[in-house]
Amino acid sequence: MTIDIDAEALRAKYAEERDKRLAAPVGRNFKPLEKPGVFVDPHMPVIPREPVTDHVEFCYIGGGFSGLLTAARVKEAGVKSVRIVDKAGDFGGVWYWNRYPGAMCDTAAMVYLPLLEETGHMPTHKYVYGPEIHEHCQRIGRKYGLYDDALFHTDVLGLAWEEDGKRWRITTNRGDSFTASFVGIGSGPLNVAQLPDIPGIEKFKGKQFHTSRWDYAYTGGDRHGAPMTNLRDKRVGIVGTGATAVQCVPALSRDSGELFVFQRTPSAVDVRGNHPFDPAWFKEISKEPGWHERWLQSFSDCWGQSVPDPRIMWEDYPDLVDDGWTRLARRWRDRFRAIPPDQFGLPAILGAMEAQDNETMERIRARVDEIVTDKDKAAALKPWYRQMCKRPCFHDEYLQAFNRETAHLVDTDGQGVSEVTETGVVVNGKHYELDCIVWASGFQFVPGDVTTRLGYDVEGPAGKLSDVWAAKGDGGGMRTLHGLQTAGFPNLFFQQLPQTGFLISNLPNNFIPQAANVAALVAHAKEKGYAKVDVQPEAQEAWCAAILEHGRPIGNPECTPGYYNNEGKGDNIHTKLMAGYPGGASAFAKLMEQWRAPGPQQFAGVAFA
Ligand code: NDP
Repeated sequence: MTIDIDAEALRAKYAEERDKRLAAPVGRNFKPLEKPGVFVDPHMPVIPREPVTDHVEFCYIGGGFSGLLTAARVKEAGVKSVRIVDKAGDFGGVWYWNRYPGAMCDTAAMVYLPLLEETGHMPTHKYVYGPEIHEHCQRIGRKYGLYDDALFHTDVLGLAWEEDGKRWRITTNRGDSFTASFVGIGSGPLNVAQLPDIPGIEKFKGKQFHTSRWDYAYTGGDRHGAPMTNLRDKRVGIVGTGATAVQCVPALSRDSGELFVFQRTPSAVDVRGNHPFDPAWFKEISKEPGWHERWLQSFSDCWGQSVPDPRIMWEDYPDLVDDGWTRLARRWRDRFRAIPPDQFGLPAILGAMEAQDNETMERIRARVDEIVTDKDKAAALKPWYRQMCKRPCFHDEYLQAFNRETAHLVDTDGQGVSEVTETGVVVNGKHYELDCIVWASGFQFVPGDVTTRLGYDVEGPAGKLSDVWAAKGDGGGMRTLHGLQTAGFPNLFFQQLPQTGFLISNLPNNFIPQAANVAALVAHAKEKGYAKVDVQPEAQEAWCAAILEHGRPIGNPECTPGYYNNEGKGDNIHTKLMAGYPGGASAFAKLMEQWRAPGPQQFAGVAFA
């Protein structure tokens, strides 16, 4: 069914809402929640231990999905001494830190949970909650013996190459100084929790915490959903309405005496439709070896079709996953397929994308009216921007939470909270008294800034990574081969989204090919007796040139600001280099498979010595 939509009027409305946000006088910049080397862990006590001063074959900095996947593949490739270091008290990465009530993943668990086939785990639901994801990380850690040599509650402070021993020296805030022949870094794209630079934020005398440091000792309850009974007599404020707030507002609305949701830009919240899995169904679909790989492939193939490339978009891949993300990709695909071949070209593609987007956003706005009974609240909860300007959300209890009389929506009309006082916050000149402020203000997505992202610098044969990746006019910036290695930093591997498949809707799809690359490179070096695995500068330049020429940079100026568009600050060399492989995730994974395959072109662009 085609809905009659005035595209011109929508464009004007979107621009108007974006401009309001751009004009907001405060809160456009953020600062990290903590300094590197400072532990603030409300979840687990730090256990004293002696400093470590030994040597390991492979060290991975970061114990989230990328570290677990890479370490598992490296172990499978025959490397015995593998150490994961993480500042958290356990494996899990974001799923260690994010224990806010209602935390869950809105990518289907069948593709979001890594190594399902290897561990034999059946997800309990189509979309699974944080505790189950964290438990799955622990399961992987146990299965691959990764706990044996792990260093938790340990912040890396330095990583320096020692040419004599052809190895990296890792120093930490626990007094460790050990070496590793190979190092992997997987800090995650959103690992640095941030607070907006709102004046007075340090003055508040009540309780305040970031969603990734949820303090159940204060709120009561637990991350499994037990009621937060201590909030029953409290006036609780939550600042931010992104994907995190969408998940924790329902529980806060249920448990708080009064809840005030301070909204700057509403999220676009589509249907989730969660349900438990039937073990008989799971047994059936998982009986053939390689089933998980097929599901992951199906997910990235669906997204591959959303890349408007006539060579791939006409193919009809099955969508095994059928979650909010693949449905979104399919909607694009169907639009592209409807373009008559003789009209196919950029204007038709852009038109198809806009028409699809307008229909989806109209449906999402109509859903607000269907669910939210208070007309003023409903009007304020409607998002006015293109869906991919902000992280799409999927939830079946968020909008409903505003139907409680105790749940107040404080829409700031794009301006945000302007001040924090000793007793509350100020919005548009009005003061709101609060006992507790929950900051759902997100994470730094810092293009190019190595030390902020990692918390330390890397000193390699080529110098400091922060210098090598610094912008130099229109040059410089983060340069890698395949997003994995940088010339002049041998035996060092990055797990990241830029310059890879860049499938933001399912991070494991990005980490899996890279984990296979790392394992293959390390195994090859060991087998042939090479001590150094570096990158040929010309191969790196060619890879980056293709990204710069054909990749899609993130800083779309038409969008309302957010981390998806560099907070509305436009593109620079860093954001341009943050683009993914132009052919998309599926094509990237296939390319990497060919690159690893034995033959004259195996590991092309890598310099072994
Ligand atoms: P976001 O960066 O998405 O959201 C931050 C929120 O804080 C925004 O609503 C922002 O408003 C608001 N904000 C910032 N400053 C102010 C201010 N001065 N006054 C009022 N509001 C302010 O962070 P999240 O933690 O919500 O999500 C981060 C990412 O984590 C997601 O995009 C997603 O990738 C991931 N995530 C994934 C989940 C999953 O299902 N797998 C679940 C949860 C999170 P504005 O929009 O106007 O900038």
